[in-house]
Amino acid sequence: MQTLDALFGHNHISVHKFGGTSMASIHAMRHSAEVVLRAQGPLIVVVSAAATVTRSLMHLSHQATSQAEKKRLLADITHIHETMLDALTAPERIRNPVEALLQEASDLTQLLQQERKPSGVDALLSLGERLSSLVFSALLQDLGREAVCFDVREVMRTSDHFGEAEPLLPEIKARARSLLLPLAQQKVVVTQGYIGSTLSGMTTTLGKESSDYSAALLAEAVGAQHFAIWTDIPGVFTTDPKITAAAHPIKIMSMHNALALTEAGAKVLHPRTMLPALRAGMSFFVGSSQGLTGGTWVRNVKENPRAADVIAINLRPSQILLSFDLTGALPFSRAAQSQIEAMLSERDLKPVFAYSDPLSTEILLDDSLREFRRESLLNEALKQNLQTLAPCHIETDLQLIAIIGNRLDQHAGLRQILAEFINHYKIRVLSFGMSTHALFILVYEDITLAQKLVITLHEELFP
Ligand code: ADP
Ligand code: MG
Repeated sequence: MQTLDALFGHNHISVHKFGGTSMASIHAMRHSAEVVLRAQGPLIVVVSAAATVTRSLMHLSHQATSQAEKKRLLADITHIHETMLDALTAPERIRNPVEALLQEASDLTQLLQQERKPSGVDALLSLGERLSSLVFSALLQDLGREAVCFDVREVMRTSDHFGEAEPLLPEIKARARSLLLPLAQQKVVVTQGYIGSTLSGMTTTLGKESSDYSAALLAEAVGAQHFAIWTDIPGVFTTDPKITAAAHPIKIMSMHNALALTEAGAKVLHPRTMLPALRAGMSFFVGSSQGLTGGTWVRNVKENPRAADVIAINLRPSQILLSFDLTGALPFSRAAQSQIEAMLSERDLKPVFAYSDPLSTEILLDDSLREFRRESLLNEALKQNLQTLAPCHIETDLQLIAIIGNRLDQHAGLRQILAEFINHYKIRVLSFGMSTHALFILVYEDITLAQKLVITLHEELFP
């Protein structure tokens, strides 16, 4: 199980997902193709958009983006894909469909300038994956492997919650079995992550960075034993290697730990990836498409770790803490709390953390996607609405450090480090529920200091 043979050396169907950096250029795609060419059995390849393309499409969807900027963004996307075409041996195979998709990007951009409908935004956002999957399937054919680009919207049926659509599992399973399985027996099927369609055929997206989730859903639907997530680094690390070079890959980790780490915001995997894996009893591999050494197996075994241990540390920036003073609402503070919950849920704002007692309610919101969305969760309208419910103190730009592991309550070293931290920094330690898998530190300092804390924690916990 711990070898690459489990991924490649069998005749069972497998699903391999390649992220944005693995699709960034023909050069990166060639490395990804080497991975694909190793597999012996039937294969479904799920791809993300080439790096930066989804972000550009998101900017194109905004009415506030200037016409000049839009022109530049469209030219960028065109340039990325035309450079890819130029590097293919037989670009004519896909030149027309690529140009049609680029035209669609331009048309949808104009349409959204008139009215920014969520369905239109998703249609525009879907173009990145539709482009990269065309190019990657053509590259595989160039390299002598029979491959076909398959439109995943035929299979990935979802709700009409544009921007974060819910997969409709029975439909997906039935369609994957009737459409994908027979095709994969004949050729490598290259298809898109991130996107889907409603039952009536409108294009949807499954949420930012959800291609990992798409791959897991398709693996579940076709009855794969494993799947693989190929990214830009060799596995899940003890912390984001962009924070410290001391971070190292974790060879094997449990589904529970992976879930806790990604729920805490670790970018390496979409948090929902683990759900199909847990349901279907699949393990999966996380590795680097740019070199086949190392990697992490996320295993689906129920283990009961006896010793306390720390698995990984994550840092999530841009948290917002809302503190409501409910003393004025007494004795009806429960009603005020329900109103607060209702207001947040109306706006699709899911608290990372919530604490209530009769005198106060505290809610932590994650605003770390504000740059991608190009707006903060906390706009002026929301700020004013919050104050109508109860006096609300708002703190922005807090950082959330998460320590993930097992039996953390019994970790003596961790207790000592936290005591030190409490003495020296503006932090608050939060233990979520009764879970001993995750411990959170809310840092009331800037990101640079929070990074330093992560580095110190990492040094002490992974000596
Ligand atoms: P892809 O485009 O392949 O989906 P992502 O950028 O979404 O890749 O995820 C990979 C990135 O996740 C890494 O480059 C790394 O900076 C970041 N990351 C954050 N936390 C971790 C972690 N604990 N282990 C590995 N990578 C992490
Ligand atoms: Mg990703």
